[in-house]
Amino acid sequence: MVRALSCRLICIALVALFACLVPPAHAQAGVAGQPLGVCLLPDTGQRVEDLISRPERFDCRTPQHRFGSGNFWALTGPIDRRSTFVDPLVVRFASLWQDGLTIHFVYADGKLRRWDSDARGISPLIQLGAIAQAPVPVRDPALVRVLFHIQRSANARGILLDPRIATLRQGDAANLMLAALYAFFAGMALALLVYNLALWCAMRHRFQLHYCMLLAAMLGYTITSSGALAWLAPALANNDRLRFNYLFMGLAGGAAALFTRSFFHDHMPRRQLDRLASIVALAVPLSALGVVLFGAINLRIADLLYALTIGGLLAIVVPTLLGAWRQRSHFLWLFALAWSAPIVLATTRVLASLRVLPWSFWLDNSTVLSMGAEALISSLAVAYRIKFLREERDAAITRAVLARKLADIDPLTGLLNRRAFLQRAIGRTDPQQLLLVDIDHFKRVNETLGHDGGDEVLRLFAAGLRATVPDSVLIARMGGEEFALLAPAAQPIEAERVLAALRTARMPFDLTITASIGSCTGSLVRETDWKALYRRADSALFEAKAAGRDRARAFVQAHR
Ligand code: GH3
Ligand code: MG
Ligand code: MG
Repeated sequence: MVRALSCRLICIALVALFACLVPPAHAQAGVAGQPLGVCLLPDTGQRVEDLISRPERFDCRTPQHRFGSGNFWALTGPIDRRSTFVDPLVVRFASLWQDGLTIHFVYADGKLRRWDSDARGISPLIQLGAIAQAPVPVRDPALVRVLFHIQRSANARGILLDPRIATLRQGDAANLMLAALYAFFAGMALALLVYNLALWCAMRHRFQLHYCMLLAAMLGYTITSSGALAWLAPALANNDRLRFNYLFMGLAGGAAALFTRSFFHDHMPRRQLDRLASIVALAVPLSALGVVLFGAINLRIADLLYALTIGGLLAIVVPTLLGAWRQRSHFLWLFALAWSAPIVLATTRVLASLRVLPWSFWLDNSTVLSMGAEALISSLAVAYRIKFLREERDAAITRAVLARKLADIDPLTGLLNRRAFLQRAIGRTDPQQLLLVDIDHFKRVNETLGHDGGDEVLRLFAAGLRATVPDSVLIARMGGEEFALLAPAAQPIEAERVLAALRTARMPFDLTITASIGSCTGSLVRETDWKALYRRADSALFEAKAAGRDRARAFVQAHR
């Protein structure tokens, strides 16, 4: 009880630590700098100078997704800041699916400077957190506006999102913070992956393998979505990096569906849900593959289909949790906690894809965080589940031991039965003394007391026998009213003493019960030794009976 409680406390402490660690770090990281408004204009071949001189032509009100896909101009609001060698400025904005980008920096003296993307798109500008960051060329006059020319914007999330002006120092600080954050997640995912893979090798539970698949996909997603891939593979086009993003997220979603299914296998409330989980496990990665293959043709539709399959993931996780709750699953509370962040996030993402909610940096970058939380807390759920499996196994072992014990015991007297006695007796290397004890005239006892009364006498007789000899003596009911005692010949049992004790044993209706004993000594290494020993003790018992009962006889060699 105390252990279970301390386990729970540790889990809660870990989760709390995680919750405290993540938001502040994230809050400082992504949204560095001063936000700039953005106004849009579809590209119909206008000249840059004309656009700058007449900013009122830009549309600052219509939501970006209404513009559809294509080529666009995007103009920021007024800036009025100087980029110097001591404190250079940068322009930061979200990474989106587009074929090319030109940035025109407009200065107070009316002069322009520009940055052009090449075949890699904005890849060279990508920073950690998948934020693009372009240096503002240093000039004496202040920077007054930035004009973007976006070529073939897919406009699945927007055309130009969250542009900000920041100092290079602020950008570097954001990178450092995000590097720490992503390194934490990548390290955690890697450690959990290695450890759970080793655990799977040992235990072979399917849910462990699915959990490893989830971790591996998340690790891939962390690398691609953090923008680290743009640093690792600078030649990769930004759109291709986004393709990897979709692919890994899709694989993670599929693995999450498999994990949910296998983890709650015994708790799956309905067969249809089980089937739905299999379909979603396949549909999420396939829809991600659809984005990879057809994103260039129509990203908006491919992305919407993908968002819907992610919605399908919710459709299995929520009823699974409900079903497990109804069945009073022990590990449910941890699992529910693990999934709460991704559930809320996935819901908001689906809503954002359906344009019910606006885009935000938090939404775009919090997948790694929420999935990281999910993976971490799920690892606790896995450990918790393994604890229950261990307890189930221990209980099964206890039951088996108990069953084996019961199979060895004579149910009436509680002594060993013949089979168990022989199992323990045969094979003893030192000489043994065998006593066969047979109740005298037991048939009469049955006639006097009835069969049940006879049973009671047998029980009391057995108890008396057990109490008379040391614990080390092996005692069994060989059948009927015949008992066997086995002791090492070096510490023999005194048959007369046994008889004397039995005579005084209290019986129903103060009946006096006597017995006759035949004993002998010999080796008991093999089965054949037992047969010889038994035969001799039995003949000694016959002698005791013949001599008038209530006495003991030992088999002596001369008799042979
Ligand atoms: P002897 O002194 O020669 O040993 O006479 P006996 O009557 O004790 O021996 P016998 O072998 O003739 O009879 C044994 C009786 O024990 C017969 C049987 O009905 C009875 N018996 C065997 N097993 C049980 C049992 O489990 N419960 C009861 N109540 N009686 C039993
Ligand atoms: Mg008898
Ligand atoms: Mg008998």
